Amino acid sequence: MRIIVQKFGGTSVASPEVRELALRKIEKARDQGFNPVVVVSAMGRKGAPYATDTLIDIARSAYKNIADRELDQIMCCGEIISAVIMAGTLQAAGMDAVMLTGGMAGIITDEHFTDARILKCDPTKIINLLKQGKVPVVCGFQGMTGENEFTTLGRGGSDTSASALGAALNADIIEIYTDVDGIMTADPRIVENAKILDCISYGEVCQLAHQGAKVIHPRAVEIAMQKNIPLVVKSTFSEAPGTLITNIAKEDTGGSAVIDRVATGVTYLTNIVQVKVHLDNTMETDASFKVFKTMADNGISVDLINIHPGEIMFTINADHAEKASMKLKRLNYEFEIVENCAKVSVVGGGMREVPGVMASFIEALSRNKIAILQTVDSHTSISVLVLQSDVGAAVKSLHEKFGLSN
Ligand code: ADP
Ligand code: ASP
Ligand code: MG
Repeated sequence: MRIIVQKFGGTSVASPEVRELALRKIEKARDQGFNPVVVVSAMGRKGAPYATDTLIDIARSAYKNIADRELDQIMCCGEIISAVIMAGTLQAAGMDAVMLTGGMAGIITDEHFTDARILKCDPTKIINLLKQGKVPVVCGFQGMTGENEFTTLGRGGSDTSASALGAALNADIIEIYTDVDGIMTADPRIVENAKILDCISYGEVCQLAHQGAKVIHPRAVEIAMQKNIPLVVKSTFSEAPGTLITNIAKEDTGGSAVIDRVATGVTYLTNIVQVKVHLDNTMETDASFKVFKTMADNGISVDLINIHPGEIMFTINADHAEKASMKLKRLNYEFEIVENCAKVSVVGGGMREVPGVMASFIEALSRNKIAILQTVDSHTSISVLVLQSDVGAAVKSLHEKFGLSN
């Protein structure tokens, strides 16, 4: 059996007209001899009546700090509505479509409500449906605990559902349908001349996604990578081929776009604060340990870490700033919090061991008078912390500097 998982994002199921376009993609897959498994997100984006953000607002209108467990039960409704409507669309076109919640589709998670991890994906029910010629239409973004309670997989998690099902079903391919023609060299809302990438490696796209490119959920990429299942990100609204995500190594791309590029894309993450803790020589040697242990004990994840004699610097999500400040005060260390920061990154599997990448990076920013608050790099990425007000200029100048605008 040749199985294809086809995931449709919120804008791809938002209206009857758009659902017809999605239907055509499913029919095309069937015509090509595939057995489609359809995964859907909640209909529309922020502001739409059944979009995830709307459902969160409804729950929070009752109590701002409503428990995550309750939030998950209402968030799951968005995908349930969407899957029912999509199954109806397919049935109207003569397909034997069967709507399934995440739990019915065999997705079992832990109990970490609002950001649950998939523990197991049992494909038995879906395989039985496919054998009967049916088309399963699965609610994305959700799973079920061992206690039969709904959970959600983190914002943007319908991609994760698609990959988990693809992996469990040993699918030939997983298609992620959205409102852009593929993964681009930068967020098109910031860089007008961002380009569609025709192919990209799992590793690069994971980095792009972790560093803020919201076009695909990083966990979805990791799951597909483990089973080496090709992922394609493409548009519901066009016939463009999209971006193929596979295990391409630099040397065996056969002259494709990947082979010569140093940088693949530029991304950004906002809502960050920088924490600077000042230490003097008289302080105990385990001061750094105490600071990071305090963050860990309070569930605050840290990034961009620099430890120097006399100073520790790191970043945290702005939502945790108040808590971090309170805890650091208790430690009695002198510290400073710089608000409204953002992390801008250039990602590229091809920058490994290429001299001058950092120099180009700094040149682009300094030419535009963008202050660098901190930097960090790996073999395949360089990131910089800047003020949030500089994000647009930083992303644009780096995109230009690394030849991604041509
Ligand atoms: P869906 O609801 O289909 O899952 P998302 O909003 O999650 O859609 O993801 C698609 C959006 O991601 C695009 O509309 C685009 O604005 C944004 N985006 C951010 N960075 C990138 C990028 N590098 N390439 C393509 N799209 C990006
Ligand atoms: N509807 C969910 C969200 O908005 C899941 C998704 O779109 O992938 O986060
Ligand atoms: Mg998405």
